Amino acid sequence: MSDSLVANHPFGLAVEIWGARGSMPAPGASTLRYGGNTPCISVRSTAGDRVIVDAGTGIRKLGRSLLTESPRAAEINLFFTHFHWDHIQGIPFFSPLIQGGARVRFHAGVSPAETRARLERQMSDPFFTLDFNAAKAECEFLQMGCGAIRCGALVVEAFPLNHPQGAWGYRIEAGGASVVVATDVEHGHPSLDKVLRERAAKADLLIYDAQYTEVEYATRVGWGHSTAGAAAAVAADAGVKELMLFHHDPEHDDDKIDQIVAETRSWFPCTTAAREGATIFLG
Ligand SMILES: [Zn+2]
Ligand SMILES: [Zn+2]
Repeated sequence: MSDSLVANHPFGLAVEIWGARGSMPAPGASTLRYGGNTPCISVRSTAGDRVIVDAGTGIRKLGRSLLTESPRAAEINLFFTHFHWDHIQGIPFFSPLIQGGARVRFHAGVSPAETRARLERQMSDPFFTLDFNAAKAECEFLQMGCGAIRCGALVVEAFPLNHPQGAWGYRIEAGGASVVVATDVEHGHPSLDKVLRERAAKADLLIYDAQYTEVEYATRVGWGHSTAGAAAAVAADAGVKELMLFHHDPEHDDDKIDQIVAETRSWFPCTTAAREGATIFLG
């Protein structure tokens, strides 16, 4: 994930996985290859513009990387898919926010006041030592609406997903390349399934919530997550180039994820599983 690595390869987008685990962290010897940190993805353009999707525990390491980057990011755009704990629990350890030195723009599907209140609640007595308002960064809160949001060369479009309390998916494009992040989504909602397929159409990469096996899903209908089989169906219907399984169940070790990927390839050949520390170059 070094700058030299990025600079030496022509690309439209560089997608970096900082956390791919769903629901709660799952560190340990059996999860070393895919990683144990909860969701955090960064997407970077050739010009160095970057957006971050979600602030799970993976954002801690991204934050340290941003502080050592040259030139240091002056503006950080962070898009929340939603506020379930596994997607915000890295916020108190996101160094650019806590130590300051950058402007952090929080984008979410709720009002600016509500986003701020939710982050304050997470970092309040007796749950955490430091108050959210003690963070030194200059913060800005923005509510996403219809239409595209431009962050430098990156164009970000949000769309609703089927998930308890709601969630947002993102299509991010630059330089002719496109990635769609659809995590915390359950298949089986006819109108939102259609929206997802429309927004994922012809994407270079679809990152999709495949938390459960079909057997596990049978007892977890309505919990807000999907399966590798449903992921393959979306990927095929939308005509994406590559499918990346994401939001790995904390009970799934590396071998189990390998097995799920192998099975999914029989339905959609160009399938991988998100691996913490991986960088994917698109376009
Ligand atoms: Zn989640
Ligand atoms: Zn969720």
